[in-house]
Amino acid sequence: MEFIKWFDEIKGDMLSLVGGKGLHLGEMYNIGMPVPNGFVITTKAFNYFLEKFGIDKQIEEILKDLNVDDTHALLEASKKIKELILSKEIPLEIMNEIINAYKELSFTRATENQKALELIAAGREMALVAVRSSATAEDLPTASFAGQQATFLNVKGVRDLIDAVKKCWASLFEPRAIFYRAKNKVEKASIAVVVQKMVNSEKSFVMFTVNPVTGEDNIVIEATWGLGEALVGGKVEPDDYVVSKDGKILQKKIGKKLIMIVRDYATDKTIEIPVPKEKQEAQVLTEQEISKIAEYGLKLEQYYGKPQDIEGAIERGRIYIVQTRPITAVGKKEEVKIEANPILKGLPASPGLAVGKVKIVFGLQDIEKVEEGDILVTTMTTPDLVPTMSKCSAIITDEGGRTSHAAIVSREMGIPCIVGTQNATKVLRDGMLITVDAYNGYVYEGDVRSLIEKEVKKQEAKVVQKEIPKTVTKIKVNLAFPIRLEEVSKKADGVGLLRIEHMIIKFGWHPSKLIKEGKKEDYIKILTEGIEPIAKAFYPKPVWVRTLDARTDEFRKLIGGEEEPQETNPMLGWHGIRRSLDEPELLKAEFEAIKRLHEKGLTNIHIMLPFVIHVDEFKKAKEIAKEVGLPESVDLGIMVETPAAALTIEEFCKEGIKFASFGTNDLTQLTLGIDRNNEKIAKLFDERHEAIKYLIKHVIGICKKYGVETSVCGEAPSNYPEFVEFLVREGISSISVNIDALDKVREKVAEVERKILEEVLRKP
Ligand code: PEP
Ligand code: MG
Repeated sequence: MEFIKWFDEIKGDMLSLVGGKGLHLGEMYNIGMPVPNGFVITTKAFNYFLEKFGIDKQIEEILKDLNVDDTHALLEASKKIKELILSKEIPLEIMNEIINAYKELSFTRATENQKALELIAAGREMALVAVRSSATAEDLPTASFAGQQATFLNVKGVRDLIDAVKKCWASLFEPRAIFYRAKNKVEKASIAVVVQKMVNSEKSFVMFTVNPVTGEDNIVIEATWGLGEALVGGKVEPDDYVVSKDGKILQKKIGKKLIMIVRDYATDKTIEIPVPKEKQEAQVLTEQEISKIAEYGLKLEQYYGKPQDIEGAIERGRIYIVQTRPITAVGKKEEVKIEANPILKGLPASPGLAVGKVKIVFGLQDIEKVEEGDILVTTMTTPDLVPTMSKCSAIITDEGGRTSHAAIVSREMGIPCIVGTQNATKVLRDGMLITVDAYNGYVYEGDVRSLIEKEVKKQEAKVVQKEIPKTVTKIKVNLAFPIRLEEVSKKADGVGLLRIEHMIIKFGWHPSKLIKEGKKEDYIKILTEGIEPIAKAFYPKPVWVRTLDARTDEFRKLIGGEEEPQETNPMLGWHGIRRSLDEPELLKAEFEAIKRLHEKGLTNIHIMLPFVIHVDEFKKAKEIAKEVGLPESVDLGIMVETPAAALTIEEFCKEGIKFASFGTNDLTQLTLGIDRNNEKIAKLFDERHEAIKYLIKHVIGICKKYGVETSVCGEAPSNYPEFVEFLVREGISSISVNIDALDKVREKVAEVERKILEEVLRKP
């Protein structure tokens, strides 16, 4: 059986055996391109596996009557098929071939510098490999968007390799792949898996064999230090070289490369580090390397008969080509460029890609025109827009920064979102078809997915996760809606922030109005019904419910909202604990709701007070708790989101707070004096400022002394791995993040904890 094909055995007619990617790599290898060596686990292996366990029949059965437009059914079908594949062990006859090939790749076929004995002596018995799906329909021009199957980088050891192979197989049945095949009437799809040596890039480059900007027939090379992700993700200003097709270097522009992504040997993961000063403005590629790389580019273009977009790397002076693909829409370069020029730019707030019709919404009066899949465009989202948001394929706002309401809510709902474009409601028109690239914050006119998909694919590839590790620091989740509870309650160690504001919206009444009209019971009911399913799903893991923290501008559209005072800056206005103490009936109703839930046995619910500035506020809240008869089982804690609370934390500890959670969104706003919602100064909004870190360090230190638990529920750790590292090193008890950041943050925490352990062990 042909379960394995080495790159040097691959021939042009093997598409159905080795898939698009495999074929490509084999071809390149065989025309003498310096492709890192590898092999392909063929489609025959996959088909054999399916047949052996009768999975093929089961899949057929599941897909037979599936209506792919029914999202729920599509997700269910995908889940079932993937489970079928992952639950079976790969048959021994295939497993043995994979293991033998992997050993051969690691040792016999190792480069001269990495002889087997050296590798064994260094304790690295098996090579680090990339495992990539290679679907048979993938990379074909018309089907390219379906080819979003999994890739696993830095895989080492037989067990991990086998797991990665199965995950690649399962990824053939991702919902969007099933959807795509159904719509394009692709009957039978199979999948091969490429296993290729990883290159440890000291330098990396991207090359276009025609100038993608001007369309001129020159070779353009961009290069930077470290791994290529920094280039592709636009994290550096790379060097830029232009080479004529007859080999002359026409232009060299040296970029300023401030960061580089490298592999961390301790964990085999990639990390971002600063580029040493002397290399920041130094030329990355030598003249010789530029010429050699351009030569490879030319050869590839000639071989494929089309301009190519090529990626490569340099390790210990050796050039490697890792990928080549035709530049999309060849022959229409000028047009393509114009077509794919973004018409709007903003801050990427919730990642994703969407195409749809614009619907501009200025207020509730406009929401009727919004249909399923439309793109909601508005000045700034308010909580009352949430039900409308949930049917949109993307959201774009004029105002707001990364920590604004629109950003937080859309992340939680998993909807691509761009905020702070300044003029989306003016530039876009109702009904216009647009593409939203919320990975990068760009909006394009028309459906330009095929032009930007490459960038997007890269971004998505980065999201691929490995096994979820265990951590000492607890990883909790921030929630506002009872969504994805089953999945999230397994992954998270509790809810570190439950925002209640959105529960209230559904009922259309402002809570203050309910109280004023003597409908306190209604408010209590809204709260118990909203909190109960979440607390149940997480039980016995703790759920920290935050008391009402609605700004006066946010709920104006609710019944009674018109009675809210007009404030010049609601962000710094009448909200949080200060309002709750002015309207104590609100607080009493909230406490009463939690008391009732405790009486029902949900003793995992605790209370967190927002926006406190003085210990007296906490004292007053405690008195109200007593008055209501809140049981001892309810912990009372505070949010540390004002510098005042941070600097006087000891007072709060003495007064008996059980926990303190950093609201880095407000803490940053207030420490730096930067309005969170003001997109004009959004570039200055940076939670990593030393002043904020100073406050956090101070609070953790004092809280430790008093045995008070510390946590964080602002957006910062969801966005910045280095901030996670800082928090873990300071010894924070838990970190609460957005749903979409749970896996990523846990991985980062595990990495940091391992590092700390190693440092301790290494200390003399
Ligand atoms: C914060 O300020 O960091 C926080 C979590 O609260 P919100 O974003 O709701 O103000
Ligand atoms: Mg806050």
